[in-house]
Amino acid sequence: MAKVTEHLSNTQGKPVFSIEIIPPVKGSNIDDLLKSIEPMMELKPPFIDVTFHREEYILKNLPDGGSKEIKIRKRPGTVGICASILHKFNIDPVPHVLCGGFTKEETEDLLIDLNYLGIENVLALRGDYARPYNSFKAKKDGHFYANELVGQINDMNNGKYLHEEAEYLNASNFCIGVAAYPEKHFEAPDLDQDIENLKRKIAAGADYVVTQMFFDNQKYFDFVNRCRAEGITIPIIPGLKVLATKKQLDVLPKLFYLDMPEAFRKEVMACENDKHAKQLGIEWCVQQCRELIDFGVPALHFYTMSKSDTTLAVARQVF
Ligand code: FAD
Repeated sequence: MAKVTEHLSNTQGKPVFSIEIIPPVKGSNIDDLLKSIEPMMELKPPFIDVTFHREEYILKNLPDGGSKEIKIRKRPGTVGICASILHKFNIDPVPHVLCGGFTKEETEDLLIDLNYLGIENVLALRGDYARPYNSFKAKKDGHFYANELVGQINDMNNGKYLHEEAEYLNASNFCIGVAAYPEKHFEAPDLDQDIENLKRKIAAGADYVVTQMFFDNQKYFDFVNRCRAEGITIPIIPGLKVLATKKQLDVLPKLFYLDMPEAFRKEVMACENDKHAKQLGIEWCVQQCRELIDFGVPALHFYTMSKSDTTLAVARQVF
């Protein structure tokens, strides 16, 4: 098994095909998930990201007329899925590890489990807000920003655990990825500030970057050029999503704070049905991939939502 950065540097100049999948809703069968991603194995992804979904809070009505806040996790299972990917496909899994919902001790325990499983890669993230709240809250004694989490993982890579005095602790060996936003993270006042904060993650020990999805390549090109001008030298992997329905024209910009190029929007709006919209989504993404390959990207990373059809339709044309 290898680190993501090793996979990126062993490609003879060609970009790597990689994917992100999401755990199924609680109570589902892992075989269904693995079957859904199996068709993409023909493209031999060297690593597969598995998202992490923190707790949510719902209000449950009580018989006495009151209500009680209940904590639920709709999509647990990230670590188990990673272990299955490793053993079934012999592919490096990349579990997403969050600040949100974890104390530092819980993070340490999770990292120890991953280390014992032979998982050598993680994507370190702050994490989404816990629904239905509309701001990020860290757990007491948890991390607030991803750079702090990267620092903890990097400490473990140097044999430094929490609250330990012993000098010769077994060091982990994680390759650490972090997120970045070509169209700016929605909370950052401007892109300059956001890039400064990306630099904090790199200074803390991040080895590579994966971007939020974008539909306008120019946003990615400008972002990479600005990062390079700021002295960021680590790989910046573009994240791609194939538009599959007309509704996603509105949903994706709202969820991920991105711009849909006007020409693409108009074309998709004119579609009679989702089948046609999906076809246009595939063609748009193929064109994006071709331009990104010409730009010299290290990988094309697809947000698959654990469905293979659109990603395969694109990847078969560009790899
Ligand atoms: P951070 O890097 O901590 O940044 C968050 C905000 O704070 C930014 O505006 C940044 O500019 C600012 N900031 C950062 N550091 C500092 C600092 N030290 N001081 C002041 N300001 C600072 N969410 C999930 O819940 N699960 C997932 O599996 C998941 N996977 C993702 C994968 C990718 C590739 C991407 C791009 C996003 C993913 N997300 C996931 C969403 C992500 O958790 C959210 O976008 C979150 O709001 C920010 O995470 P981050 O790691 O970029 O945060």
